[in-house]
Amino acid sequence: MAWDFETDKEYQVLLDWTAEFVKNKVEPLDAVLGSAMEYQDPDFIKCVRPLQQEVREMGLWACHLGPELGGLGFGQLKLALLNEILGQSRFASVVFGCQAPDTGNAEILAHYGTDEIKERYLQPLLNGELASSYSMTEPQGGADPTQFKCLAVEDGDDFVINGEKWFSSNARYASFLIVMAVTDPEASAHGRASMLVVPTDAPGVEIIRNVGVGAEPPGQGSHAYVRYTDVRVPKRNLLGPRGQGFAVAQTRLGGGRIHHAMRTVGQIRRAFDMMCERALSRSTKGEILASKQMVQEKIADSWIEMESFRLLVLRTAWRIDQFNDYMKVRKDIAAIKASMPKVYHDVVSRCIQVHGALGVSNELPLSGMLLGSYVMGIADGPTEVHKVTLARQVLRDYEGTDQLFPQYTLPNRRRAAIDQVGHLIEREVEAW
Ligand SMILES: Cc1cc2nc3c(=O)[nH]c(=O)nc-3n(C[C@H](O)[C@H](O)[C@H](O)COP(=O)(O)OP(=O)(O)OC[C@H]3O[C@@H](n4cnc5c(N)ncnc54)[C@H](O)[C@@H]3O)c2cc1C
Repeated sequence: MAWDFETDKEYQVLLDWTAEFVKNKVEPLDAVLGSAMEYQDPDFIKCVRPLQQEVREMGLWACHLGPELGGLGFGQLKLALLNEILGQSRFASVVFGCQAPDTGNAEILAHYGTDEIKERYLQPLLNGELASSYSMTEPQGGADPTQFKCLAVEDGDDFVINGEKWFSSNARYASFLIVMAVTDPEASAHGRASMLVVPTDAPGVEIIRNVGVGAEPPGQGSHAYVRYTDVRVPKRNLLGPRGQGFAVAQTRLGGGRIHHAMRTVGQIRRAFDMMCERALSRSTKGEILASKQMVQEKIADSWIEMESFRLLVLRTAWRIDQFNDYMKVRKDIAAIKASMPKVYHDVVSRCIQVHGALGVSNELPLSGMLLGSYVMGIADGPTEVHKVTLARQVLRDYEGTDQLFPQYTLPNRRRAAIDQVGHLIEREVEAW
């Protein structure tokens, strides 16, 4: 009987340490520091580097990659339990060396990079010495990558890249970008693109502007609109086989999606905790909010949705560990990706409502979290696309029928039952 919802005692000790450490030492940074990606900023060096060292000493640094891929990781299930704590703080994943998009990029480099690429980019990335960016989406369309136009043309020992990319997160802080470019325009829709490592300081890489989300002031965002003009990279910067960019992307996106979901569990828990505390603290018409049935409903619905989502994330993480192949758990990953924005949105919305004016004020993080729920429904592919994937995967286990009335209608079931057990029944049983 293998079903078990308990955490190993030794690992629970590490999780308890993480929860205390994040609450007492990392969360304060959220309130006073700017971007968590400014690795060279003196404040970052003074405040974040010592915490990273403490995490290393606890053996919890960069746990997203398994030892076979150059990391310290111990699988997705344990990572999920860790990430739901880290998801509660803006700085936590950087302090623990497992922040997006670097985690997914590290996964690609570990799987497909040459020894030289690993030494030059993967190791410093895992050490937290440099940041990276993933440059796939194009301005004319993200959800349908078969429309991509950014071209990489072979020229001697190099590829020469020309085109534009949109929403390349953290490009402004990154030392390199992983760029999806069309190398084989005549090939089939999913065999046209390849993945290339491009140093950010290569001639011809230009950030047209840094786009922000929500109320971020213009120019201060971190999602770059990037133009590549005659950018030359050696052929050995190719990640994976030529024309297999889509397959390589899955290596990163499968992990990226579940890691977002793990951290989102933490964000949802944060909103839920605030809502419960507020419900027990605020009084109106002679009783605390927690006594009002409509507030109780909000808490009950939120708990059910949060815990169901969490279990789905944990089960998906467990299945990834079982199969060690994202393609075999596409259905599960699509399901958590599609349900994440709704659960996040609904719990945060209720939390805002219970807080009244304070809920929408800029003194609570809730409006940013609400926008975050929309981001989760767009980044790494829109919800609609994941629902299509989920439905297709689910339907693989079913077959249609050419009967006018399906076998599961009562008359058909009754006829079948008479054939099977009618001779044992003494009274007359008539077919319908
Ligand atoms: C905060 C953030 C960070 C991001 N970071 C990165 C990054 O680091 N690197 C990167 O390359 N990209 C990044 N992206 C881009 C992201 O991957 C794209 O936004 C996403 O793939 C959707 O592409 P799009 O925005 O062009 O939307 P579109 O493709 O224009 O789609 C718009 C809408 O159309 C609908 N739609 C689209 N396709 C279908 C369909 N098949 N069926 C039904 N409805 C559909 C959906 O409602 C969808 O939201 C980021 C996005 C965000 C918001």
